[in-house]
Amino acid sequence: MVVDIKENVSLKSYSTMRLGGQARWLAEAYEENDIPNLVEWAKHQNVPFMVIGSGSNIVWRDEGFNGLIIVNKILGKQILSEDEAGATVHIASGEIWDDAVGWTVEKGLSGIEFLSLIPGTAGAAPVQNIGAYGAELSNILTEVGVYDDETNAFGSIIASQCGFDYRTSRFKQADKGRFIITNITLKLSKKSPGPPFYDSLKNYLNEHKISEFNSKVIRNAVINIRSSKLPDPAEIANNGSFFTNPFVEQSQFDSLKQKYPEIKGWPAKDGKIKLAAGWLVEQAGFKGVHDDETGISTWPTQALVLVNEHAKTTADLLSFKQKIVDKVREMFGITLEQEPELLP
Ligand SMILES: Cc1cc2nc3c(=O)[nH]c(=O)nc-3n(C[C@H](O)[C@H](O)[C@H](O)COP(=O)(O)OP(=O)(O)OC[C@H]3O[C@@H](n4cnc5c(N)ncnc54)[C@H](O)[C@@H]3O)c2cc1C
Repeated sequence: MVVDIKENVSLKSYSTMRLGGQARWLAEAYEENDIPNLVEWAKHQNVPFMVIGSGSNIVWRDEGFNGLIIVNKILGKQILSEDEAGATVHIASGEIWDDAVGWTVEKGLSGIEFLSLIPGTAGAAPVQNIGAYGAELSNILTEVGVYDDETNAFGSIIASQCGFDYRTSRFKQADKGRFIITNITLKLSKKSPGPPFYDSLKNYLNEHKISEFNSKVIRNAVINIRSSKLPDPAEIANNGSFFTNPFVEQSQFDSLKQKYPEIKGWPAKDGKIKLAAGWLVEQAGFKGVHDDETGISTWPTQALVLVNEHAKTTADLLSFKQKIVDKVREMFGITLEQEPELLP
């Protein structure tokens, strides 16, 4: 095999939180065919393997990973078909997601501009069904190309079989670790995006007196909003939102509303109400906090983002996280769920 397999590699550079132990082995895959070769190599050594992208949704345990990490670098973007209504595009899984978004917008296509500037690779996007500003990948994804570790074969899974839901999919749940995503297919439109827009986007567009919309305008607006609110993981160690937004029953929301009249909720699936995790964290007293004990802080303009200022270990991060979880539970009776995966 021609792929270079390195030994005892620090995983800090493979998580945007920059914490964690070592990988016993690590290799970069540049072509689809590197995948079965590396999987076979790991099986031959009798060790587990794991495929990752940019590590923007991963927190590595201090113990590290006694197996093979495969870093996905498979590149390629192409338009598969096009007519006056839109185009179907194929994106290889190692492409940087935001590069792919920029490419589709340059081609005058609409559908993923709301998901601009989300860090990471295209192949990880279906894993947690990335979403922002009221849009979700599952709205425009038609197919996921995979290498199936059970059948040792390449294949594809249509969107309706991906088990997509809020920030999740079968790739994160029932079939975690089984499929290595090699490409995604998206159906995009040539029609310009239009209102209603998500509140913060609507406010930005109003403030900037923007009333003519196309995918480029929306992409620029989303990039400007995100850059003003969120730390750039290339410069500041963080995993974006550290908790997912919780869903509660209407009755629980009603009683919370009595106690906290300013609490906001949005109607969601199955009669549930979606709450803003960031608001709960702020109310629990964690806005702009610098915790000297653990070296973790919360980002001043978005308390949901935990920042590694000078933490030494993942244990530090988890201990700070627990302070937030405990306080939110005590105040609101809600247990926040961590969004970035703790691996392995
Ligand atoms: C500043 C910041 C802002 C963010 N904002 C958002 C946001 O608005 N919305 C949102 O949804 N997310 C957001 N995220 C989270 C993150 O960007 C996404 O989850 C992204 O899709 C992760 O991509 P990645 O390549 O870094 O995946 P990684 O972190 O490397 O991997 C994530 C998971 O996917 C698996 N995986 C990765 N590649 C593959 C593959 N090819 N095949 C199978 N499994 C694979 C990994 O094993 C792991 O389980 C944000 C993160 C940061 C740091």
